[in-house]
Amino acid sequence: MKLSEYHTRRGDRVEWWSPKGRYDLVYKSRVFTDTYSKDTIVVNNAEKVIQGGTGYEPGGKDLPYEIEHIRPDYFLYPRFLGTAYGFLSRGCPRNCGFCIVSGKEGRRSVKVADLSEFWRGEDEIKLLDPNLLACPDHEALLEQLAASRALVDFTQGLDIRLTNPDNIALLNRVRTKAVHFAWDNPEEDLTEHFKRFVAHTAIRSDRNRRVYVLTNYGSTHEQDLYRVNTLRALGYDPYVMIYERPTAPKITRHLQRWVNNKRIFHTVKDFRDYAPMKKEVH
Ligand code: SF4
Repeated sequence: MKLSEYHTRRGDRVEWWSPKGRYDLVYKSRVFTDTYSKDTIVVNNAEKVIQGGTGYEPGGKDLPYEIEHIRPDYFLYPRFLGTAYGFLSRGCPRNCGFCIVSGKEGRRSVKVADLSEFWRGEDEIKLLDPNLLACPDHEALLEQLAASRALVDFTQGLDIRLTNPDNIALLNRVRTKAVHFAWDNPEEDLTEHFKRFVAHTAIRSDRNRRVYVLTNYGSTHEQDLYRVNTLRALGYDPYVMIYERPTAPKITRHLQRWVNNKRIFHTVKDFRDYAPMKKEVH
């Protein structure tokens, strides 16, 4: 979308690539590597093809500064008009083994933009920041979000370990429907952090406080169940994510179905009573 704006400003005509067209330049982007999807599109109707994205080159080149900081053009995605998408910060100090952010964007969270760079009064803001609370400037950035009065979606979640009464008070001033966190590492006890957040947040419904629980990444079933049950008891809505689903044990897939199907999760309180499990055991 930024490339589209850049080229349009230069007087170029921009459109989605079609195999029937003829182009001076085609940009081809790819998010995932071969492990997840195959690159099946061959472009042979352009003078020049530029490939980019983590799927081609993890940790590869960034956009030039003047393009990175341009306001994105929504012409290619008209259905997203009315929502402002963007990053206020990039990078993350955590370097979790299953995540590419620290390797790709750096092991520090740094401010990359003010909100005004990509928001022009839209009703909704979808933030793509990987770990906004790790950014030293996050309080000033939260102030900008609060002042916008737009509905803010922290699409990549917030880091519960970095919440404190001050930034929770700021978050309370941001218009948001829901927040989500993650409890990925079973060796780390995050109970106190989750308790503190519940005590200070203005988000009253536990359904709007979602927590992703990573499974099949070195944790035991007991550790998975412990995190799920603890989160529910603390007033959160757990959501089970499975790392490399095809290799996951059956019990983990059952756990995912039990937790993520909210009708079942709210009626069957104990995992041992969950029907598919019982059938297999007896
Ligand atoms: S905290 Fe989140 S963004 Fe940071 S490395 Fe871990 S998973 Fe990635």
